[in-house]
Amino acid sequence: MEQTLIILKPDAVQRRLIGKILQRFEDKGLRIAAMKFMRISRPLAERHYEVHKGKPFYPGLIEYITSGPVIVMVLAGPQIVAVTRKMMGKTFGFEAEPGTIRGDFGISRTLNLVHGSDAPETAQKEISLYFSKDEMVEFAMCDEPWSIQKENV
Ligand code: ATP
Ligand code: MG
Repeated sequence: MEQTLIILKPDAVQRRLIGKILQRFEDKGLRIAAMKFMRISRPLAERHYEVHKGKPFYPGLIEYITSGPVIVMVLAGPQIVAVTRKMMGKTFGFEAEPGTIRGDFGISRTLNLVHGSDAPETAQKEISLYFSKDEMVEFAMCDEPWSIQKENV
């Protein structure tokens, strides 16, 4: 099944929004394949956001993502990258649609609460930055026969 890397960023943790954001992903019927609470080091942040190196917002972005602990998780499900990106909403809180995580909980440009991989290939690269193979948990959710049609997997 397709996987994505989701990060509940330092502002989500500090604003005690972990439960509310996680609830949305659980309600959608996604499976958690790995999860940890950690602080992202500067070298790891630089690897994660290397595509943005040189952009004006890059220094502030590295500062922000390393500024406090985060929840990092791998979610699995059909079309998971597209589904989670849709649930997150547009990058900037002031542009994100109501009903999305960024649209409902934030109004900032950089402090946008949540990260989600932007393509299945990016997801695999990002997952390997944060999780070793033995930290991934393989199992089936008991409601999968009722929530996921086989042809969609
Ligand atoms: P993410 O990769 O964190 O899921 P995204 O894919 O929606 O977000 P990107 O274009 O990859 O957006 O930007 C990475 C992060 O850099 C954004 O989430 C935001 O925190 C920050 N960012 C992006 N563009 C700007 C900008 N113009 N000004 C300030 N911060 C920005
Ligand atoms: Mg991105």
